[in-house]
Amino acid sequence: MSDCLFCKIINGDIPAKKIHETPELLVFHDIAPKAPFHALVIPKKHITSLNELTVDDEKLIGSLFTAAKKVAADGAFAEKGYRVVFNCGADGGQTVGHLHMHLLGGRSLEWPPG
Ligand code: 5GP
Ligand code: ZN
Repeated sequence: MSDCLFCKIINGDIPAKKIHETPELLVFHDIAPKAPFHALVIPKKHITSLNELTVDDEKLIGSLFTAAKKVAADGAFAEKGYRVVFNCGADGGQTVGHLHMHLLGGRSLEWPPG
């Protein structure tokens, strides 16, 4: 999508600190980290939010979790623990309309979130 921020990052039109990439997905550092480690795991396919998911996307979404596991292990905080979050829609706190998983680690995270 031409006017999507994360599609622009995927296309290289906007720079980002990349951590991991496959033909299907990209992992990069969040520009405003909410934890010592805060990455975003995104499919390269433009999907606006969880509300737009279809069964055809199930394998792709599974690959986001596998990527998060790898990045957490590489970041050496996997044993201590971390959190993955999908915000959906306005009440869910979603501000960028391209499906993304937050991967947060490196500190003790509170529950429930605000
Ligand atoms: P949301 O609020 O939609 O769940 O999460 C969007 C995330 O994208 C936020 O954590 C925000 O800091 C991050 N973000 C917004 N613009 C940029 C950007 O230009 N580059 C990067 N790397 N992250 C961004
Ligand atoms: Zn997009």
